[in-house]
This record gives sequence, structure tokens and C-alpha cells, in this order.
Amino acid sequence: MSKLVIVPTPIGNLGDISARTIDALAGCDIILCEDTRVCSKLLNHLKIDKKMLLYRDDNEERQVQRIIDLMEGGSTVCLTSDAGTPGISDPGYRIVNACRRRKIPVESLPGACALITALAASGLPSDGFLFLGFLPSKTSARINMFKKYADFDHTLIFYESCHRILKFLKDLQNVMGATRVICVAREMTKIHEIFHVGEVGQVYEEIAAMAVKGEYVIVVAPQRFKFNP
Ligand code: SAM
Repeated sequence: MSKLVIVPTPIGNLGDISARTIDALAGCDIILCEDTRVCSKLLNHLKIDKKMLLYRDDNEERQVQRIIDLMEGGSTVCLTSDAGTPGISDPGYRIVNACRRRKIPVESLPGACALITALAASGLPSDGFLFLGFLPSKTSARINMFKKYADFDHTLIFYESCHRILKFLKDLQNVMGATRVICVAREMTKIHEIFHVGEVGQVYEEIAAMAVKGEYVIVVAPQRFKFNP
């Protein structure tokens, strides 16, 4: 029976791929991917040769009907993204939603996800959290988001690029105060993996003193949480 399989891929370390992920990729008819070069690299590593179809932010809506037709014609389709879990700050939910409406089975494989990896490693309260993905790039819009969630009673999690990480931390400090406890997780599972944990003022200084290249997740503790080294 045809189905959609949601297939997480590693966020850095290829060793994090699971046996089920390999079986799903090897056994499907078509792989949806954001970038065929990125996907080919993974498939070459796994020695899998498979038809790829682009499914990305700029063609997601257009591709949904085509993919549904393929599945209704009997194809099993794997949904991937460049890294991590598809649909999490990546394209994905539209095709899943279309499958749900058409009663096409959806299988969701557990696997790498940067926000969960960072939260688990942060040592910050993890019994409840709010994931807000990427904030707007405009300073005023970012500051408004920080103001909106400053008193939220659970941990907050954000994604950010290396180009904006320092501005992000400066705005966070200005709105939530220099003593708010955070964890900045950089380049997780890669050679230069590093976790900066402490008060935002101190973490800002640490990161400003280093080259800021790489990928970042920022975990922000609720105001009530104190950090005593
Ligand atoms: N779907 C992915 C997931 O499951 O986490 C997220 C995709 S989103 C386009 C990419 C962002 O995730 C990066 O800008 C960064 O904020 C975060 N990220 C991905 N891999 C990371 C890593 N190895 N270390 C730190 N952050 C990472």
C-alpha cells in the first residue's frame, strides 16, 4: 500500500542515521528533498540510488497535488529535508495535511531534531517548552516577540543563523535582562559542537569573542529559573 514516510536526516553527524531511516529510503519509490545535491550526498553515503523530487518552500504548494497523484498511483514517498525532521522550520506540513485529508497512510520516523537535541543538553527546565522557530529578521519585530514571551512560564526555544546570533542575544538581553539564563547550542553533533550555558550577558560575551560561524539553537529559561555555577 502506498504511503508517505516522514524521514528525519542527521543534523551534522551521519552516524545518527537510524536503521529504519535507511530501510525507508532504500524501500521507497520517490524521495522528496529540498536540494538534490544535499540529498544525493546522503544517498551516496548510504549507497542508495533513488528518484528525487524537489519539495521546498518555493514550490511546496504546487507540488502537493503532484505528489498526492503519485501516491494514489501506488508510490511510496519519503519526505526529507536538508537536515533534521521535515516540517520543523522546514517544508512538510502541507503534504502531510493533504495525506490526512485523502486518508493516505503517514508513517513518522523519530530522528534528529535540533530543538530537542539542544533542549535535552541545556540543563534548563524541559517539562514544558514553546518552540518559536526563527524570529523575524527586523529588530523591531524581534523585540516585540521577546516582549510578548518574556513572562512565559516555560522554556522558550529559537533557531537562529550565524549572521544574526549576536543581534539576537543583544535584543534578548535588552528585553529580558542580562541575568536571564540561556543555553546557546552551536554546531551540535559536529566537530565544533559547543554549548554555552549561563546568563545571557555572559553568554553574549563568550560568543562575541569567538568566530560566530555555524548553526545555532537558543534555549531560554523562564524568569523564575536561576543558574548557580
Ligand atoms: N528541520 C530541522 C530540525 O529538525 O531541527 C531544522 C531546520 S532549520 C531550516 C535549520 C536551523 O536549525 C538552523 O538555522 C539552526 O538554527 C538549527 N540547527 C540545525 N542543525 C543544527 C546543529 N547541528 N546545531 C545547531 N543548530 C542547528
